[in-house]
Amino acid sequence: MTITATHTFSFELLYSSKKSRARVGRIHTPHGTIDTPNFVGVGTNGTLKALDNATVEQIGLQLMFCNTYHLLIQPGTEVVRKAGGLHSFIQRNMPIITDSGGFQVFSLAYGSVADELKSRGTKKQDGNVLKITEEGVLFRSYRDGRKILLTPESSIAAQKDLGADIMISFDELPPYHIAQDTLKRSLERTHRWEKRSLDYHLQNPNEQALYAVIHGGIDLTLRRQSCEYLTSLPFDGFAVGGSLGKNREEMLEMLSFTMPHLPQDKPNHLLGIGDLSSIDQCIPLGIDTFDSSYPTRAARHGVLLTNQGDLKVAKACYQNAFSPIEEGCTCNTCQNFSLAYLHHLFKAKEAVCMTLATIHNLHFMVQRMQAYREKILQGLL
Ligand SMILES: [Zn+2]
Repeated sequence: MTITATHTFSFELLYSSKKSRARVGRIHTPHGTIDTPNFVGVGTNGTLKALDNATVEQIGLQLMFCNTYHLLIQPGTEVVRKAGGLHSFIQRNMPIITDSGGFQVFSLAYGSVADELKSRGTKKQDGNVLKITEEGVLFRSYRDGRKILLTPESSIAAQKDLGADIMISFDELPPYHIAQDTLKRSLERTHRWEKRSLDYHLQNPNEQALYAVIHGGIDLTLRRQSCEYLTSLPFDGFAVGGSLGKNREEMLEMLSFTMPHLPQDKPNHLLGIGDLSSIDQCIPLGIDTFDSSYPTRAARHGVLLTNQGDLKVAKACYQNAFSPIEEGCTCNTCQNFSLAYLHHLFKAKEAVCMTLATIHNLHFMVQRMQAYREKILQGLL
């Protein structure tokens, strides 16, 4: 398959709702167009778990989120560069977004918000992060023990090796529980790191786009400062990251405040959030893209997404359910197999069950996002 770059990066705003901040647009990238709002599938290692990329494309996913941290460690971004970049390596003309690698490194150091709230995680995991300085983060590869220094420059260099259509600036991810002055210092460092990321990127733009990450935790003053500073620089788009709060209410309050500070003519992305309730509440706030591993992870654990809510395939009541997961679903799984068969495959621990469940869940997300775009265009949202 020939991998060709067709467009340069641009954002087209097609319609802004009169009822809310919801909007419909198109992000054009060298490897295809993304209709927004949209769901971004997580393909950490250059593939969605349990699905091959041809199937992913058939289902209609328009953007895949790959993790620089994992690809840096295995197979190494140099291998991907030698292959001609991720698109050639995975043989797909499909838009790809990569993160900076910072999120995973700092998660190792601090644990997730959930870990923090349960007061666990940090002690067990921080052995791999050796040093955090103004230069960057020195950590040890969990795979072979070698030391890796991740800096704004080395993160962008790695993302250039990967050839992502959209790259993300290197940032510091502070823990949720943090003193205000420490959070402020972290924000200032993140801004310096993001500026360094941008400067390094602009030396060789290479048809790639670079998003900044808006930080500031749930401190609204810091969020505003972060928007003001980062939108003054020539980034191609803006991701909302950092600590998003300890629950959805905190996140929504922060986003309601932050989103109006982002420019209308550039795309935005909400990092790591993609559960159905959050998407439903964030689209009216003007979020364009969401990435989450939830739909694919849920599928592998036998949780199927339906318009009536989550369905647990292992439940005994499905043993004789000879109908599809959801009547009317046009996915390949629902068109060909019954819930009873999926129940049996799951109980028998057949690997293909994960694939069939993932096909349905991804199809569900793609359809759901299309329905949102139609609703906005019809003036219903
Ligand atoms: Zn289906």
